[in-house]
Amino acid sequence: MEIFKQIAPLKAFLNAQKRAGKSVGLVPTMGALHAGHLSLIKVSKAQNDVTVCSIFVNPTQFNNPNDLQKYPRTLDKDTLLLEKVECDAVFCPEASEMYPEKSIIKFDFGHLDRVMEGAFRPGHFSGVGLVVSKLFNIIQPTRAYFGQKDWQQFAVIRRLVDELNFDLELTSVPTSREDDGLAMSSRNLRLNPDQRQAATVFYESLVAAGQALQHGKTIREARAIVQAKFDERQGVSLEYFELADSKNLNILENVNASDSPSGLPVGLPIMCIAGFVGEVRLIDNMFLQ
Ligand code: AMP
Repeated sequence: MEIFKQIAPLKAFLNAQKRAGKSVGLVPTMGALHAGHLSLIKVSKAQNDVTVCSIFVNPTQFNNPNDLQKYPRTLDKDTLLLEKVECDAVFCPEASEMYPEKSIIKFDFGHLDRVMEGAFRPGHFSGVGLVVSKLFNIIQPTRAYFGQKDWQQFAVIRRLVDELNFDLELTSVPTSREDDGLAMSSRNLRLNPDQRQAATVFYESLVAAGQALQHGKTIREARAIVQAKFDERQGVSLEYFELADSKNLNILENVNASDSPSGLPVGLPIMCIAGFVGEVRLIDNMFLQ
């Protein structure tokens, strides 16, 4: 496996691959890799000749300096895991390689970043848009892979690709979960054993709320069920629980309410949840069929 810290040698490697007619799959990550990330690598390997995994804890997408500082960094272990699954190349630049100067470009994704994560993490999707655009321009992948766990991020990146004519195919890969339903996340490493147990409230809330919504309950009633589950547990707090159209991210009142005042395409309803376990912020989501 090739390991690149610099852009120029990575580009030289990729240019040689592309000249030989090979397709390139990109899996962008922030490292502290787990089985969820590896599932993206697996899909990319099945669909491309060469798979590149990027590992970069992108400072411009953190609105909370404490979260950035405490974000787990396990590069040695990550490279071993990537070797094991036969990833072809890793791009793990320092911040100075990606941002030699302080960036001045901002992205505004309109309604897509006014709701949910965008509302609670101001500037987050601007930073995501910036780093993903840089990675797309540097690597020029044939295909790029993102997890369903960060659904709003996927909706934002889809818009970025459409609107800026990036010449690549996007794929969203289903969320990998622990046996008790907790969505795998690098941030789970920060949980102590009690917190790890309490963190199942996110998945349990989605399942319970999903059943309620499918039985005709309103989002208000479903939210009360979710809030009660959070109130029952020690050390957890709910930030938001929303039902949204999965394509245009309009916030919905019930499962049948999808429409599109923004003119963006209409998708299946998706429940999205965010909250804290201690000081660790977690998110999750689930589609309603
Ligand atoms: P991150 O390192 O958290 O920025 O995640 C890198 C990529 O892996 C993103 O596209 C995430 O959506 C995806 N990802 C993170 N956790 C999971 C998971 N549990 N299952 C599937 N994909 C995931």
